[in-house]
Amino acid sequence: SMASPALLMRVVASAYSVAEKAATIVRNVMSAGDLGIVEKAGPNDLQTKADRLVQMSICASLARKFPKVTIIGEEELSTDNVTEDLIEDGHCEEILKKPCPAQYTGIKEEELVIWVDPLDGTKEYTEGLLDHVTVLIGIAYGGKAIAGVINQPYYNYEAGANAVLGRTIWGVLGMGAFGFQLSEAPAGKHIVITTRSHSNALVNECISALNPDHVIRVGGAGNKIIQLIEGKASAYVFASPGCKKWDTCAPEAILHAVGGKITDICGNSFQYNKEVKHMNSAGVLATLRNYDYYASRIPNTVKESLVP
Ligand code: AMP
Ligand code: MG
Ligand code: MG
Repeated sequence: SMASPALLMRVVASAYSVAEKAATIVRNVMSAGDLGIVEKAGPNDLQTKADRLVQMSICASLARKFPKVTIIGEEELSTDNVTEDLIEDGHCEEILKKPCPAQYTGIKEEELVIWVDPLDGTKEYTEGLLDHVTVLIGIAYGGKAIAGVINQPYYNYEAGANAVLGRTIWGVLGMGAFGFQLSEAPAGKHIVITTRSHSNALVNECISALNPDHVIRVGGAGNKIIQLIEGKASAYVFASPGCKKWDTCAPEAILHAVGGKITDICGNSFQYNKEVKHMNSAGVLATLRNYDYYASRIPNTVKESLVP
């Protein structure tokens, strides 16, 4: 008889469906029109009703199925009294049918940490830049990001009424990533992608030092990694604190699954064990290809200004 699927594949298959439910909530809150915006650290650090409902939905749904897994969400909210309408208990059958990479077949629930960004790109969501928004579910084991799901609820929203709205991208190290068309940025062109709403002097100094042909300023860590793997940009460069572990875990797993690389600005890899500091204090440097080209051109003065 068939062995039952490995835990990791069951978690990824469930996270896929949970992220699709999340996308429905993100769209429904926007169409209902009352975003319920709350400032967290300040006007550039916002939370909406969608951030709150989606976090409750994702965390409660995954905790119910995988009670011993550690789940860390961005928003400070209780998931004790989540209403049943927010619970997703489905899974993606196609993911469940795929074989788990051998090195991950023995993983136990207690060994997994799930990093949840219920809505990445909240500032842009409140400004109507809807395709910048993603839902991020990253799965870590042994301190490493090994699998991830990125849902883009408004993918195709400007493509006309016949286009399918939204998509789900997922990946596992050693298996690859799915749900998009992998593409490389134009050869010999240096297209840097960075923050739109969290720029500062150091962020801009670092980008100038790379002498890029073009700079794309958009919201969301998830969105920027999607643009790297689809060949729209060659490097994601963010020389500032501000980005957190839930912003990078799912994107990192997917980027690494297709041969890319993400580190802080100084070249240190990120750790995702449950005790780790949430802030990525030394920023972000990510590429699909040619990581060394960009890493070698980050000025030492910039690296010295950012302490991991
Ligand atoms: P961005 O590229 O500006 O969209 O940032 C990527 C992720 O990091 C988003 O989740 C932001 O909310 C977060 N982030 C980056 N910089 C800051 C900051 N200065 N304050 C709060 N959040 C930030
Ligand atoms: Mg975020
Ligand atoms: Mg968020």
